[in-house]
Amino acid sequence: MTKRNTTKAVCPGSFDPITKGHLDIIERAAELFPSVVVGVLENPSKKPLFTLEERVRLINNAIAHLDNVEVTCFSGLLVDFVNKVNGNLIVKGLRAISDFEIEFQMALNNKRLSPEIETMFMMTKNEYSFLSSSMVKEIARYGGDIHDLVTPEVEQALKQKFSVSDK
Ligand code: ADP
Repeated sequence: MTKRNTTKAVCPGSFDPITKGHLDIIERAAELFPSVVVGVLENPSKKPLFTLEERVRLINNAIAHLDNVEVTCFSGLLVDFVNKVNGNLIVKGLRAISDFEIEFQMALNNKRLSPEIETMFMMTKNEYSFLSSSMVKEIARYGGDIHDLVTPEVEQALKQKFSVSDK
């Protein structure tokens, strides 16, 4: 086996929208690895609230302080995307036991498809263990406070989405 001295990590997800839980994982990956790519999954079948362009803009805004992180969109298989950007590691966050089963399945399938790509999991920060994009959207839809869960730009974008869709 060849040892690699350069690791390019990919943090994949829908990011609809990016939360402080996502950002925490991206920041920790950026501390550990020389280069990180945030892979934004297109997946129109999930009917995202934010367009791909909006999601990318909000991520770019949230990661502006990280000079070794870039954002790229993808559709199709994650391992194909990782290979395309010359990545060799997938970094994902784990919130609860409920995340484990699906992540375990995905990691094993990705390993089967592309054995040279590793998957690593980082435990969420305690304060973000209950946090998901869908929770944030649900709270924002009914005017609840989300200021400690997302960046100010995301908070603003959510307010705008829901005020427009209510009219
Ligand atoms: P969600 O599950 O919120 O819809 P994504 O599909 O965008 O989010 O998830 C992308 C990655 O980010 C996954 O690995 C997921 O486990 C991780 N993630 C999402 N929210 C958090 C959080 N609060 N803490 C840690 N990791 C998270």
